[in-house]
Amino acid sequence: MVNFIGVSDIQRLVHRIGTGAFIERLAREIEHDYRRWREFEKSARLASHSPVGVIELMPTTDGRLYSFKYVNGHPKNTAEGLLTVTAFGVLADVSTGYPLLLSELTVTTALRTAATSALAAQWLARDGSRVMALIGNGAQAEFQAIAFHRLLGIRELRLFDVDPHATAKLERNLRATPELADLKLTRTRSVAEACKGADIVTTATADKRNAVILTPPMIAPGMHLNAVGGDCPGKTELHADVLRMPGAKVVVEYEPQSRIEGEIQQMPPEFAVTELSDVVSGKASVRAAPGDITIFDSVGFALEDYSALRLLHTLLEEERGAHRTIDLVPELLDPKDLYGGTLGRGGARGRMRLTG
Ligand code: NAD
Repeated sequence: MVNFIGVSDIQRLVHRIGTGAFIERLAREIEHDYRRWREFEKSARLASHSPVGVIELMPTTDGRLYSFKYVNGHPKNTAEGLLTVTAFGVLADVSTGYPLLLSELTVTTALRTAATSALAAQWLARDGSRVMALIGNGAQAEFQAIAFHRLLGIRELRLFDVDPHATAKLERNLRATPELADLKLTRTRSVAEACKGADIVTTATADKRNAVILTPPMIAPGMHLNAVGGDCPGKTELHADVLRMPGAKVVVEYEPQSRIEGEIQQMPPEFAVTELSDVVSGKASVRAAPGDITIFDSVGFALEDYSALRLLHTLLEEERGAHRTIDLVPELLDPKDLYGGTLGRGGARGRMRLTG
C-alpha cells in the first residue's frame, strides 16, 4: 500500500505542529537539501503553456529518493471560483522505483514557497528587518506572512492588492491567528504606499503578462525584494530597471530554469546571478553593503517539493499507522502474474498479497 495525504491529512499534520513551526521545520529541511545541491539531479521543469495558464511537471532525485510534482498556474481561475495554483506529487524509492507517498501539494506548495522565501530572506535581508510590504493578497499571502513573522521577526505588514476583498480576507485570517497577535497590519492604497518604510517587499501577484508591480522609485537602498509571482515566460512583476539598479544583487534557485521563467528572463544571458545553494552553503555572500538591494527571484524549484514530500513522509511515519494508504500498486503473490493477480478469472483476492 502507498501512503496517501489528502487535504484533510495536511490540515491534521500542520495543525498538530502549528503552521509557523511547520514552515520553520520545512525551511530547515530545504536549507539542508540546498546545501547538498550537487547530489541532486536537476532540470528545468517541463511546462505546457496555453493562452490562459500553464501545467508543469517538476522531477528531481538524490539517488535515494525520487520526487515529482504536477502543478498548474492559471491566474484567471479565481474569477471562476477556482484556485490559481493546484498541485499534487509523489515521493518514490529509487532502489525499487515504488511510490512511497502520493500527496496533495496545493497547500504544501504554499507552505514550501513561504519556507523558501523566508529562508532566502534570512540570508539576504538586512539584520533587524521588521516591516514587510505584502503585495498580492491571494492564496499565498497568509503563508508568506506567517513565515516572515516566524523566521525573520517581521512585526508590521503593509498590505496591498488591486482586489480589496483579497486584502480584507488576508486581514481577517491573520487577525484570527493567535501566533500573529503582535503583528501590526496596515492597509495601503497603492504599491508605492505599501513599499514606503518597508525593509522587505514581497510580491505575490498573479497576472499572465509582464506586469510592472515594482519600479525603481519604490525601492529604497537596503531593501530585500522577495519576488514570488513572476514564474513563467511572459509573466513577471519587476520593471527590468529594478534589476539594473545600483547595488542590486539577484539570487535564483536553479539558474537554467530561472533564465526561462524568472524576473531575469528580461535580462541578457550574461546578467550575473547567484544560486541559492551557494548562498545557504556560505560560498557566496551577496549583501556586501547595507545599501545593497537583494532580490530573491523565486520561481519554485523541484528540490523544495522533494524536501516537503520527505518531511511529510517522516511525519506520517511518526504517526505509526494512523494515516491513510491507497492500493496504487498491485501487491502480488507472484510478481510475474499481474494478469492473474488482478484481472484474471478467480479474482485477485487469492493471488494478491493482503497487506495493511
Ligand atoms: P492568487 O490568484 O490567489 O492571488 C494573486 C493576487 O494578486 C490576487 O488577489 C490579485 O488580485 C492580486 N493582483 C493581481 N495583479 C495585481 C497587481 N497589479 N497589484 C496588486 N495585486 C495584484 O494567486 P496565488 O496562489 O496567491 O499566487 C500568487 C502568485 O505566486 C502567482 O503568480 C503564482 O503563480 C505564484 N507562485 C509562485 C510560487 C513560487 O515558488 N515562486 C509558488 C506558488 C505560486
